[in-house]
Amino acid sequence: MSTLVTGIAELVTNDGTVGDGPLGLVADAAVVVEDGVVAWVGPAHAAPDADARIDVGGRAVIPGFVDSHAHLVFSGDRAAEFEARMSGERYDGGGIASTVAATRAASDETLRARLRALVTEMRAQGTTTVEVKSGYGLTVEDEARALRLAAEITPETTFLGAHVVPAEYSGRVDDYIGLVTGPMLAACAPHARWIDVFCEPASAHAFDGDAARAVLEAGRAAGLELRVHANQLSAGPGVRLAVELGAASADHCTHLTDADVDALAGGSTVATLLPGVEFSTRSPYPDARGLLAAGVTVALATDCNPGSCFTSSMAFCVALAVREMAMTPAEALWAATAGGAAALRRSDVGHLRPGARAHLAVLDAPSYRHLAYRPGVPLARTLELPATEALSRP
Ligand SMILES: [Zn+2]
Repeated sequence: MSTLVTGIAELVTNDGTVGDGPLGLVADAAVVVEDGVVAWVGPAHAAPDADARIDVGGRAVIPGFVDSHAHLVFSGDRAAEFEARMSGERYDGGGIASTVAATRAASDETLRARLRALVTEMRAQGTTTVEVKSGYGLTVEDEARALRLAAEITPETTFLGAHVVPAEYSGRVDDYIGLVTGPMLAACAPHARWIDVFCEPASAHAFDGDAARAVLEAGRAAGLELRVHANQLSAGPGVRLAVELGAASADHCTHLTDADVDALAGGSTVATLLPGVEFSTRSPYPDARGLLAAGVTVALATDCNPGSCFTSSMAFCVALAVREMAMTPAEALWAATAGGAAALRRSDVGHLRPGARAHLAVLDAPSYRHLAYRPGVPLARTLELPATEALSRP
């Protein structure tokens, strides 16, 4: 079955060979979707016939957002911690322990319901691909459970047993790394595509460069691909380690030295910026302009999690990137779609040229610029296609 989507005032394809500029813009456009895949894009007057037709009424259509960094398997609530932080307390990653306790105590049904509600919330705001990490279980059974649940809703599952050192291993980091790289990895690898580590020597709760290297190398030996929480709180070794080991993405990149930027520019690792975290922890933003000037591939993601940033809105992150990191609206949208796809090493999402998955988001606006121009307004939603086209849900 094929569906013609028409009435598109402005189509973002992210392909300069299909349309104008780096966003591959096509005005007065149409898209034909067949069996969950983009079959044709171009000017509406040249569109071929299709079995069904959706008229979006003069709105903009973009590739669905690719949120390449999210922590959605958890229980509990940390609104009080947020309130304390807004009253002047500093964020150092220590509050994760309260989420770990609540998550361990929760039933599968409770965790699944929260996870699905968040994914539904994301989808309603135009996100069509989401990565989901473990990291609030921190036992063999609880980490494997988190990844089993995450794998029900996305192929982009990430084992983050090395999120923080749990309380029962306090002062015994080496023993905990032994657990993470041994029995925990063995139990989690079958349910995960990726392995991640919170590399942050400046936090008493996270891991230094040697521990992070041990985790990543063990993960790779178990067949997982690599991503790193790097340089969030200080200019530590995380970014250079990520590049050296060929990680798909170094995430946060809030504190970078010139050597870190050079390493990213010379490697294949995407710099994933998470400005919602800086917003929600009242911290300085990453130097997006410096990264872009150096030629680094930049992605934007939410880092949706109950502690340091509890937003599920990629549109909000686009607005922050433009206002607070001086990215142009076009750079920010590209980073939130094609950039996220690069950070997940996916060639089938993040763009709308023929052959892409039919992940379309529609904006209640005539242009993508409104995402930053109208911050906080719920403009973006996933375009729901007829039932037989829905096979490509994330
Ligand atoms: Zn994170």
